Amino acid sequence: MNTNLLLANLRNVPDFPIPSIQFKDVSTLYKNANCMQEMLTEMENLYRDKGITKVVGIESRGFVLGAALAARLGAGFVMCRKPGKLPADTIKQSYGKEYGTDTIEIHTDAITPDDVVLIHDDLLATGGSMKAAYDLVQQFYPKETYINFIIELRMEGLKGREFLNDCCPISTLLTIKE
Ligand code: AMP
Repeated sequence: MNTNLLLANLRNVPDFPIPSIQFKDVSTLYKNANCMQEMLTEMENLYRDKGITKVVGIESRGFVLGAALAARLGAGFVMCRKPGKLPADTIKQSYGKEYGTDTIEIHTDAITPDDVVLIHDDLLATGGSMKAAYDLVQQFYPKETYINFIIELRMEGLKGREFLNDCCPISTLLTIKE
């Protein structure tokens, strides 16, 4: 994989959305045709022999490569969304954030026990939102589950990978240490 191409095209926005956060803006990867192909080809290579039948994307940046990868793998795509967005029956999972709690939902008919599931999001920070999505997916008792991110943020005090390590295999395309 051409890591330098991806790093050169990833935009860092200091102090967004609040002071001291270095926001990794993946929109500059998504808008670049070469970066899109590079990321998708790498992810396809990682997962094509895993028998993935459903890719779950976490709202909203996880939808972009999640759906494109599902098409490449010949898998279905499932949206994991914020509360009140999905129109039919859902199951929910709440999780703690730095301040307060958040909830995510999936349609009750989105996944079956026959599925092999890959959950995708753009970035791993604390791992809280991915853990909630993982726990939600486990309520369907899928055959196997995998987790993928474009970016793994490794900073003092951020232990996202450690937090998720016991869940299932994890892959990330870029590791950024700050
Ligand atoms: P976490 O649940 O703490 O692992 O946070 C991951 C989610 O928050 C992902 O959906 C990211 O899009 C977003 N996020 C957290 N920190 C950042 C950051 N520094 N830059 C860009 N997105 C971030």
